[in-house]
Amino acid sequence: MTSNNLFCATDDYTESVISEVLQSNLLVKEFNQKYSELMLLETSAYLDKMTLYNIPIVFHIVYYDDVENISDAQIISQIDSLNKDFRNLNLDNVIFDEYPREKALATDAKIKFSLATTDPNGNTTNGITRTRTMIESFECPAGRSDMEPLERQPMKSTYLGGKDAWDTRKYLNVWICNLSGASGYAQYPRSLEYMTDLRYRTDGIVVNYRCVGSEGTTEPTRNKGKTVTHEVGHWLGTYHLWGAGADGTGCRSGSGDLIPDTVPQKGPQVGIPSGYSSTKQCPGCPKPLLLNFMDQWDDEYSLMFTKGQVARMRCWLELLRSSIIT
Ligand SMILES: [Zn+2]
Repeated sequence: MTSNNLFCATDDYTESVISEVLQSNLLVKEFNQKYSELMLLETSAYLDKMTLYNIPIVFHIVYYDDVENISDAQIISQIDSLNKDFRNLNLDNVIFDEYPREKALATDAKIKFSLATTDPNGNTTNGITRTRTMIESFECPAGRSDMEPLERQPMKSTYLGGKDAWDTRKYLNVWICNLSGASGYAQYPRSLEYMTDLRYRTDGIVVNYRCVGSEGTTEPTRNKGKTVTHEVGHWLGTYHLWGAGADGTGCRSGSGDLIPDTVPQKGPQVGIPSGYSSTKQCPGCPKPLLLNFMDQWDDEYSLMFTKGQVARMRCWLELLRSSIIT
């Protein structure tokens, strides 16, 4: 089996959306209020207070070679792992035995994902579409703006050789294709005043067919479905642990990922953690957090969201993506 060295390209697709969000004072006020309410609760009260949300999800497989036309079973393995990750069901993993700090922080997001059962026309569906394309591989948009035209991301357009999104206000759209040089990328949530027609059409996540689920075409080190968990984390408004910019300004800016219970770090942590001896520690800061979904560990070592990340995702889901909750 070959192994790949693929990482997230979200920072190349979109810079931080903080500046836009900050222009919307009302939204920030609402967000801060919800966020601090959640963060002040003890963990047990916190979990009790949260309703379980369901999000319908559709996978658009856009394939050139037959091998890229991955099986339903591979998609099911992805859904299973995504739901496990968002419900904090990795705690029995023995890797946590070495990392009690991370285990104590791991939190259930109380969000689940279900394959769509009805398509936009009201027809029954299994939540998977399959489209043959003439495009051999797809480039990641690198303009650092999610106003990239569809021409730069044709997997999202039927006319251009991909597949049109299903109404992104009702479905989480996941495009699976032969993505060149990256594991995937996501589009951040936006306040409604910034949602253009293009942003509605491109909303969702794109994933390399080598990084989906835990069987079939997956390759180490992206063979446990964590790419989709990570990208959905972005889609719900969480940033990389090292900050929202591609250059990792987490420590210097003092804001990093804007989450109080993660630790600023100098850049992505990759591969396999070896004790608390990260080279990404910022001077004067505690040791960086390990095993987090919003870092870039090998899939096997990507195991948890913190309470702060969960609070952030749920706040943005309620404020900016509420129409998708069923
Ligand atoms: Zn990422």
